[in-house]
Amino acid sequence: MFDKILIANRGEIALRVIRACREMGIGSVAVHSTADADAMHVRMADESVCIGPPPGTQSYLSIPAIVSACEITGAQAIHPGYGFLSENANFAQILEDHQITFIGPSAEHIRIMGDKITAKETAKRLGIPVVPGSDGGVPDLASARAIGEEFGYPVIVKATAGGGGRGMKLAKSAAEMESAFSTARSEAKAAFGNDEVYIEKYLGRPRHIEIQVFGDGKGNAVHLGERDCSLQRRHQKVFEEAPGPAISPEERARIGKICADAVAEIDYIGAGTVEFLYEDGEFYFIEMNTRLQVEHPVTEAIFGIDLVREQIRVAAGLPMSFVQDDLRINGHAIEIRINAEKLPKFSPSPGRISQYHAPGGLGVRMDSAIYDGYTIPPYYDSLIGKLIVHGRDRPEALARLGRALSELIVDGIDTTIPLFGALLQEKAVQTGDYNIHWLEKWLDANLE
Ligand code: ADP
Repeated sequence: MFDKILIANRGEIALRVIRACREMGIGSVAVHSTADADAMHVRMADESVCIGPPPGTQSYLSIPAIVSACEITGAQAIHPGYGFLSENANFAQILEDHQITFIGPSAEHIRIMGDKITAKETAKRLGIPVVPGSDGGVPDLASARAIGEEFGYPVIVKATAGGGGRGMKLAKSAAEMESAFSTARSEAKAAFGNDEVYIEKYLGRPRHIEIQVFGDGKGNAVHLGERDCSLQRRHQKVFEEAPGPAISPEERARIGKICADAVAEIDYIGAGTVEFLYEDGEFYFIEMNTRLQVEHPVTEAIFGIDLVREQIRVAAGLPMSFVQDDLRINGHAIEIRINAEKLPKFSPSPGRISQYHAPGGLGVRMDSAIYDGYTIPPYYDSLIGKLIVHGRDRPEALARLGRALSELIVDGIDTTIPLFGALLQEKAVQTGDYNIHWLEKWLDANLE
């Protein structure tokens, strides 16, 4: 086992990893920008190293600075969290070359899944159902039109290098193809420096269902069921739950096994998430994330498993501490993402937190790195906390969420907390009857 792990991240996820290290008796090294000198992850870690000025590109994304911090402190492994360098194949490769363990999959697997066309081809080859669409990149408008005819409108034009919902355009009919194709290409070029696009059948009212997988890198893998993350704003998840209210045990077992077998076949190591759109009983692969997800705590809650601990174990060459048959779902869990943003426009609201009180009690977990008097710097993601509740069933989890929200206080800045109180009053949320468009429509009608 490692003696010391460096966490190449900040905020709640850095704290999350430090917590796992401490329980495992492993030393932790925090890295931070000058803007984060007073951050909670720096206070909680055993050691810390300042790696640069505030902008992410000069600190949390600076590979030389992070590798130097590792060498100075003697950390043997790096946990990347999510975001920043977590899906950077080059980073994983450089660590390998420096004999530092990357707590995550191989550089090759990150690379395969980072390119959407290669990812889709790989998924298909491994027996995972994909969204019908073009075979690979679409070179010109004439080919795009032919694909529109073949699969039938509406279709969606997507950037091969895509991420964060950028470079994605809907063509509802043949007449819209020319503009969808050229806008998607130019957006992709501007955002990713690569204008290659592909085309998929557009699903009108799907749910976002993702399967948590976990491999030991030696041909063994399990699945830990699904999360339903359909409540999204601008393709960003805001409310996630497990198990998915629309997924039956038989469907879970079937799609879970397909995903576990697929990652076992490629000797995948560590945590991964296979994302699907789900409509009318069918799953359609959209992408795979080769890292820990923001919403991993709902899976931890219902399985009673520490996923970060498992990531560290397999990275150190140990076996997973469970096999598929050990994994049983217990109850229902919900996570809400709390952002420092001002409603109704969700505009960033950094600043000083004058008062913070975290909710507690049975089945309540608050993952956050804020504290009384903490000043949220304006340079990073606006996520300031995740409130996770666990109950014996969905109604109990919802009631617990309402109760926990009534205890939570974050004063001095604007947050998205009021949104969740309002959502809990909605019948669609109470019954779990929603799809990926529901929240956008609700926001249009009720807020923005
Ligand atoms: P990104 O990596 O940019 O987030 P994804 O491929 O994961 O792109 O898609 C993001 C979101 O876009 C999905 O969660 C879904 O809301 C929507 N989307 C993507 N593909 C389709 C499709 N074929 N039909 C309908 N909606 C889609």
